[in-house]
Amino acid sequence: MRRFSALAIAREALRHHEGWGRTWAKRAPDKRYDVVIVGAGGHGLATAYYLGRNFGITNVAILEKGWLGGGNTGRNTTIIRSNYLQDASAALYEKARSLYETLSQELNYNIMFSPRGVLMLAQTHHEVRGYKRTAHANSLQGVRTRWIEPAEVKELCPIMNIDGPRYPVLGGLWQARGGTARHDAVAWGYARACTDMGMDIIQKCEVTGIRSEGGRVQGVDTTLGPIDCHKLGVVVAGHSGVLAEMAGFRLPLESVALQALVSEPVKPCMDIVVMANTVHGYMSQSDKGEMVIGGGADGFNNYTQRGSFQHIEETLRALIETFPIISRLKMLRQWGGIVDMTGDRSPILSKTPVEGLFVNCGWGTGGFKAIPGSGWGMAELIAKGHSPLTAAFGMERFREGRFIDESVAAGVAH
Ligand SMILES: Cc1cc2nc3c(=O)[nH]c(=O)nc-3n(C[C@H](O)[C@H](O)[C@H](O)COP(=O)(O)OP(=O)(O)OC[C@H]3O[C@@H](n4cnc5c(N)ncnc54)[C@H](O)[C@@H]3O)c2cc1C
Repeated sequence: MRRFSALAIAREALRHHEGWGRTWAKRAPDKRYDVVIVGAGGHGLATAYYLGRNFGITNVAILEKGWLGGGNTGRNTTIIRSNYLQDASAALYEKARSLYETLSQELNYNIMFSPRGVLMLAQTHHEVRGYKRTAHANSLQGVRTRWIEPAEVKELCPIMNIDGPRYPVLGGLWQARGGTARHDAVAWGYARACTDMGMDIIQKCEVTGIRSEGGRVQGVDTTLGPIDCHKLGVVVAGHSGVLAEMAGFRLPLESVALQALVSEPVKPCMDIVVMANTVHGYMSQSDKGEMVIGGGADGFNNYTQRGSFQHIEETLRALIETFPIISRLKMLRQWGGIVDMTGDRSPILSKTPVEGLFVNCGWGTGGFKAIPGSGWGMAELIAKGHSPLTAAFGMERFREGRFIDESVAAGVAH
């Protein structure tokens, strides 16, 4: 595949960009692969990429029922941070964050990583205690975050009203190297790199059944016919429960719609990401100038990929006290995705009761930030049967009562 470089772009500019070739091209699947990954979202693609990069396993197909990156990966608000409380989570999310730093160079694809800083506001005394505790934990874990006082909050984000009558800002947890990246580009960059290694990305190919014999996975049935495989990775976010049922086991997950919205574009007014967990909203400004706003998840399980209207109203009403600017903005678009929530708000990266079948799910409202680290660990788990990054995240933890409680870090979502 042609590499992107300043010279190549200049040359193609003179040739009307006709020399680039297709980025991913496979239409019909082969009969058999060493590894099949179901789901061409960020986590599925990253898993495939690191299988090839780190373990030389390239006889891999990635099957996607819709289009590449069309699930939650292409619907999220792109916040990247690693300020989690528990050691296992901090290790996984920090691995991901650090891989994001150089992912554009690694993939030779501009994922527009913007480490502009992420601020989690403390607006109750409970949050002050929680975030100070997280800051201490992070310093022991080697994750660079710090507690900041209200005056510094105001300095970092002048449009914020820190003296609100209901929820004044009491300080915040600041991660200077957190930020955002372009979500589609993350999916496209990994997809391009996978194709480059000879892997097949097959879109519009829905998995409709999982075949096993004697407790070992044999392959999948799809809308494009049966495909055999030695190992199978199921990485389908909100549909993980559906796929698990096909394989004959249950996952401790609930699927709910989570939504976000953007305003009309305005001039640059906010160059950090702010999350206000108590009032349940968060905001950043996109490169186009739109205010990107997210809120909580629907209070009932569903597969609608829309999200309900009362949530838009609730989120904006809640944020206006802290960001009065919102009251004068028109909202442009709203959308939703189906997120897969676990009881402890931590993901599942695990072997399953079916030998050779692995699951990567439960990222809930905050898995975009974890894509490179999750792919790294999941690839190791599939290739070697064990990974230090994923060891704590096995599905047996729910039976054993060994939860990785991240309800404070997961907070509002993201
Ligand atoms: C509104 C919103 C805002 C969010 N904001 C953030 C944020 O700011 N930061 C953050 O870190 N995270 C955020 N998230 C969460 C994040 O988007 C997800 O955790 C992450 O994208 C999950 O990636 P994935 O690859 O596991 O899933 P997906 O991207 O959903 O990919 C799964 C794929 O599997 C496919 N699939 C399903 N069933 C089948 C089948 N039977 N056969 C074949 N393919 C199938 C789907 O079509 C889909 O493309 C947000 C999510 C939403 C919805």
